[in-house]
Amino acid sequence: MLPLSTATFPNPTGLSSEKVFRFLVETVSDYAIFLLDPSGHITSWNIGAERLHGYKREEAIGRHFSIFYIPADLELDKPAIELRRAAAEGHFEEEGWRVRKDGSRFWANVLNTRILDENGTLIGFGKIIRDLTDHRLQDLRYRLLVEGVQDYAIFSMDPNGVVTSWNVGAERIKGYKPQEIIGKNFSTFYTPEDRASNLPKKVLQTAAREGRFAGEGWRVRKDGTYFWSNVVVTALRDEDGTLYGFSKVTRDMTERKRLLDAIQRHSQELELRVQEREETNAELEAFAYSVSHDLRAPLRAITGFAEALREDCAAGLDDLGRDYLNEITNAADRMNVLVKDLLDYGRVSRIDLPLTRVSLSEAVEKATKQLGDEHVGSLTVNVPAGLFVKAHLQILAQVILNLLTNAFKFHFKNAAPEVRVLAEASDGRVRLNVRDNGIGIAPQHQERIWQVFERLHEREEYPGSGIGLAIVKRAVGRMHGSYGVESEVGKGSTFWIELPQAQEPASNEKEGNE
Ligand code: ADP
Repeated sequence: MLPLSTATFPNPTGLSSEKVFRFLVETVSDYAIFLLDPSGHITSWNIGAERLHGYKREEAIGRHFSIFYIPADLELDKPAIELRRAAAEGHFEEEGWRVRKDGSRFWANVLNTRILDENGTLIGFGKIIRDLTDHRLQDLRYRLLVEGVQDYAIFSMDPNGVVTSWNVGAERIKGYKPQEIIGKNFSTFYTPEDRASNLPKKVLQTAAREGRFAGEGWRVRKDGTYFWSNVVVTALRDEDGTLYGFSKVTRDMTERKRLLDAIQRHSQELELRVQEREETNAELEAFAYSVSHDLRAPLRAITGFAEALREDCAAGLDDLGRDYLNEITNAADRMNVLVKDLLDYGRVSRIDLPLTRVSLSEAVEKATKQLGDEHVGSLTVNVPAGLFVKAHLQILAQVILNLLTNAFKFHFKNAAPEVRVLAEASDGRVRLNVRDNGIGIAPQHQERIWQVFERLHEREEYPGSGIGLAIVKRAVGRMHGSYGVESEVGKGSTFWIELPQAQEPASNEKEGNE
């Protein structure tokens, strides 16, 4: 309430406190402050009132305050009602449109105060008026925005979850008209199971506690159909923190949910198929392994008897017979290589591969020893002694041997092969490069050469089984590494593998592999 004459102020001017007070009121420009006599005629007028209403003091004094009201309010006899209310209640606050002298309107916040003399007789009214047009417009704009939004259900609730406002989007998504749902509890939108587990209450509790609740779930439309909704509930609190309700924004995500579910279903099916394929592959590999294994005995017999024929019956064979015998031996040798490679491939896939700390230079040395003396002169190895990887020594040596064999094999017939082995470590990985000056590989073939039996050349041109790189791929994968090739036709190739670097030897690891 306005402290009219009883206020005490710090008073550096030496003037009476009443004068100071009057001075203050008269010079306040953001508030219209004025007095009315008991019948509503203006008796005082400050600068703020002049600014807000547009009347000068001499124009305003003596006029009835109803000049500030819009015609619609005048028809309702609002000025008189307000005076009666102020006289009865002491003071009250209200908001409404008011008119300026030039006819323009402003949204006013009005504080009405009754003034009594010492005997309790009504001597007038005090009015303090603030221009809240900007707030009001913002509020209006906000409401228009919210009310017009179609794609989101936006509504408000009281602290218990009773719906207090309802926009077009809410009507569209949930199917209720405002008059059907305002006043009802928002738990209506939940499924019976969610209601039984008290979810609506928990949502409000979370929003009240944390300021906001966000989630997704099935909700029910007026017609009983379900939709998948994305929900944000925000707690609404006034300046002193008292909870006065919640706002809720809901989006219908049913389509997205359906798509996501479909994608999930497809990916599950795919996973299942991959798993089935892996199982089939494993079975096929097991089959190939056992067939290769079983082929060894008859193969040995073919080679052995061909040898016996050559030694014991040479005299009975003419040139043609000897040619046939040579063909048999060559074919048996090729088959031997194939069987051996297939068995190696099967072994790499099937055996246990305990990984230990392996010296890379030791693995390279092991491989180069098996390579054959004729290549030693054209091989340069640059692998620092202190490089260790997590690997299986035997298998790693085989991988390196396969790469080296290829590097020496696929060279131009008229140029001697030059092969370099280089190693480098960075970011916990060690990369081993095997670089040759050979025929190179066209980009479109660089992917498929890693598959079993994929070869780019006739056997007569470059012999081989097409299994060497498949072994590299499988073995490196099983040692948690990666592999690749950089190559250009006619300019040589660099095949590389990368393995995790091994640091300090762990106490439970033993050096090397058996
Ligand atoms: P193989 O060497 O027994 O033919 P691989 O699986 O080791 O089988 O290699 C598959 C194919 O990849 C080879 O047939 C060859 O065409 C190509 N290839 C592999 N290494 C090289 C290389 N260093 N230079 C050029 N081509 C290569």
